Amino acid sequence: MFSKILIANRGEIALRIIRACHELGIEAVVVYSEADRDAAYVQLADEAICVGPAPAVKSYLNIPAIISAAELTDVDAIHPGYGFFAENAHFADICNDCGITFIGPDPDSMRQLGDKVAARALAKKAKVPVVPGSEGEIKGEAEAIKLANKIGYPVIVKAAAGGGGRGMRVAHNDISLRKGFIAAKNEAETVFKDGTVYIEKFIVEPRHVEVQLMADKNGNAVHFYERDCTIQRRHQKLIEESPCPVLNEKTREELCKAGLRLIKEAKYHNAATCEFLLDKDNNYYFIEVNTRIQVEHPVSEMVTGQDLIKWQLKIASGEPLTLRQRDIRHKGVAMECRINAEDPTRDYAPCPGPVNEFIVPGGLGVRVDTHLYQGATVSPYYDSMIAKLIVHQPTREEAIATMKRALREFKIGPIKTTIPACLEVLSHNLFVESKVDTSFIERHMG
Ligand code: ADP
Repeated sequence: MFSKILIANRGEIALRIIRACHELGIEAVVVYSEADRDAAYVQLADEAICVGPAPAVKSYLNIPAIISAAELTDVDAIHPGYGFFAENAHFADICNDCGITFIGPDPDSMRQLGDKVAARALAKKAKVPVVPGSEGEIKGEAEAIKLANKIGYPVIVKAAAGGGGRGMRVAHNDISLRKGFIAAKNEAETVFKDGTVYIEKFIVEPRHVEVQLMADKNGNAVHFYERDCTIQRRHQKLIEESPCPVLNEKTREELCKAGLRLIKEAKYHNAATCEFLLDKDNNYYFIEVNTRIQVEHPVSEMVTGQDLIKWQLKIASGEPLTLRQRDIRHKGVAMECRINAEDPTRDYAPCPGPVNEFIVPGGLGVRVDTHLYQGATVSPYYDSMIAKLIVHQPTREEAIATMKRALREFKIGPIKTTIPACLEVLSHNLFVESKVDTSFIERHMG
């Protein structure tokens, strides 16, 4: 096992990783920007190194500064968290070249699965159903229109390097496809520096269901069941839960096994999530693999009782997965609400600023993952997610009741947050009855 690692991230995930390190007897070094000088994770780490000014490109995305910090503190490994370098194969290559273990998959499997076009091809090879669509890259508008007419509208143009809901355009006819194709390609070029786009059939009113996976370096792999992440706003998840409330046992097992086949085909190791869309008839279609730990991983931790960050650390250090699939039992219902510093009444505009009021909920079955404290300031420079509220109860009905109670207890001010929006979703009949799809927020809320 490692004796000391560096966490190349910030916020709640930095704190989450520090906790796992300390329980495993590992020293945790963090890097921070000038804006995060007073952050809780800086105070709770064993060592902290300032890597630059507030803008992420100058600090958290500054490769020479981060590698220097790792060398200076003589760490064995780097945990990238999620976001920043978590899916950056170039960064993983540099770590390996410097003799520092990257806590994640091999750069090559990251490249293969991170490219959505290549991942689709691999999924087909592993006999995992993919959304009907292009074989590979679509180069021009004419090719796009020809294919769309073959598979039928609506279609969605997606960036091969896409992420975070960017670089996607839905088209209902030739005219909107022509526009959407150019827009998606331009956005892909600007945001991801890779203009490769492809086309999928747009699945109407789907649910988003994903499988949590973990594999070691010896080829052993297990799944931790599924999470339903259907409640999204502009393709960004807001509420996640496990189990998926509409999945039957047979489909659940098939879905989990499909995820396992895919990461085995990729000779993958460490944590991964295989994402699927589920249509009205319970058909599932692969959309992408995330080659990192995800924001919503606590949902799977609560229902299985397994610490996924500890498994990441153990596997990266070369330890085998000692878990067998039959040891991983799914118990009860877990749900997570993302609390973002955003104003739902002003189209979710970011709402940074000082946090003068901060009262955290508690009680049986309540978990809060946050880096905030009373007197802290939410910086305008980074992602607006400031806390994750997770509940675990025997039934979905009880989980919803606990979540509503905990959301009402959670006092964060004077900044605005997504707490009222989460409460609105949880109180909506369609959510309570599990009759939602990915467009729920856009269609049914304010
Ligand atoms: P990203 O990597 O940007 O998160 P994904 O491929 O994971 O992109 O898709 C994000 C979300 O976009 C999905 O959860 C779903 O809501 C929507 N989406 C993606 N592909 C399709 C599709 N073919 N049909 C319908 N919705 C889709």
